[in-house]
Amino acid sequence: MHKLLLAVSVIAAVSSADLTLSLTDSGIAVLSWIESDTVFDHLELRVSLSPFEEGDVGKGSVLRKILPEREGAMPTSIEIPGSFVVDPGVCIGCGLCISQCPVGAIEKVDGTAVIDPDKCIACGLCVASCPVGAIFSPTSEGVHFALVGITADGRRILLETY
Ligand code: SF4
Ligand code: SF4
Repeated sequence: MHKLLLAVSVIAAVSSADLTLSLTDSGIAVLSWIESDTVFDHLELRVSLSPFEEGDVGKGSVLRKILPEREGAMPTSIEIPGSFVVDPGVCIGCGLCISQCPVGAIEKVDGTAVIDPDKCIACGLCVASCPVGAIFSPTSEGVHFALVGITADGRRILLETY
């Protein structure tokens, strides 16, 4: 129930003509967008505690890497996962969160904590341990998203920001 309320608060705060957050009947937040004319190798849905500006194609954390479907078309929607995320722009690399996680979902990569979304059970225990507030749920209010397209030759294009 608590998770559902968080998702609803995001939907009230974030929407636009090209990128829309909606809620399924089962309470799952879904982000959808309009298909781009450009052909991409894959897309990244990135998330951050601060707004994305022009050129911020590597900012924040990758919430999901989005690959083309079997027919070659790129998906135009994704469920927002419930797993928690670290903002690398805020994390100071103290490592305190790593010892709190009951499922070993957090490791340090290049000096900042990274949460494995496939292991995270969204218990929230790591959040209280962080001295700088770097860990958050992507369904909480005030979170910023960016959709980034990556071409076959490695160019990164910021498609949408919120
Ligand atoms: S929310 Fe829980 S399971 Fe997920 S990374 Fe934090 S401590 Fe680990
Ligand atoms: S507790 Fe916070 S600042 Fe320390 S490593 Fe974890 S996320 Fe980074």
